[in-house]
Amino acid sequence: MEKNCVRLASPTIQTDSIVDGEGIRSVIWFQGCSHNCLGCHNPETHDFYQGFLVSINELKEQINELEYQEGVTFSGGDPFMQPEALLVLARYVHEKGMNVWCYTGFLYEDLIKMAKEKPIYFEVLKEIDILVDGKFVQELKSFDAVFRGSSNQRIIDVQKSLAREKVILVEKYI
Ligand code: SF4
Repeated sequence: MEKNCVRLASPTIQTDSIVDGEGIRSVIWFQGCSHNCLGCHNPETHDFYQGFLVSINELKEQINELEYQEGVTFSGGDPFMQPEALLVLARYVHEKGMNVWCYTGFLYEDLIKMAKEKPIYFEVLKEIDILVDGKFVQELKSFDAVFRGSSNQRIIDVQKSLAREKVILVEKYI
C-alpha cells in the first residue's frame, strides 16, 4: 500500500446511514478482503487492486466536513487488512469527537493473536469503540440480528474487552 493512502471501494464517505451501527453514521468503505465468505454481499470489495486509492489527507478533509453524524463506521472489504490507514483514520474520527465502529471478518481473538506479532493491530483496537466481528455465514443469515449479516457475528465493546482481557458484548445486542 502506498504510504499516506488507503484503498477504498468508494472515494467518498457515505453519510447518514442508520444500518451500519448506532445513530446516524458515516461509512468509509475499505477495498480488499481475503476472507471469501460464501454469500458475501460486497464481492466487488475483495480485490486488493481495484477500487480507489485515496490520500489520507483527502479523507481527513471529508471527515472535517461531516455534520450531524454520531460516528464513523469502517466497513468493506476488511478494514483490518489496511491497519496503518485504519489506525490514522480512526484516531482522527475520535479527535473530531465522533465514535468508531468497525466491521471485520477476523474474530476479536484472532486480532489479539495478530497483535502479539504486529502491535499495530493492538493500536487499532484501542481506537475502536465497537467491533462487529467474524465472517458472514450464509446458513446463519438473520434479519433479526441487528447491525449484523449473520447471527454468529458479535457486537463487541472493544475498550471493555481490552480492559478485562476477554470478549465483552454490547448487552443490548446479545
Ligand atoms: S469479511 Fe465481509 S467483505 Fe470479506 S468476504 Fe466476508 S462478508 Fe465479504
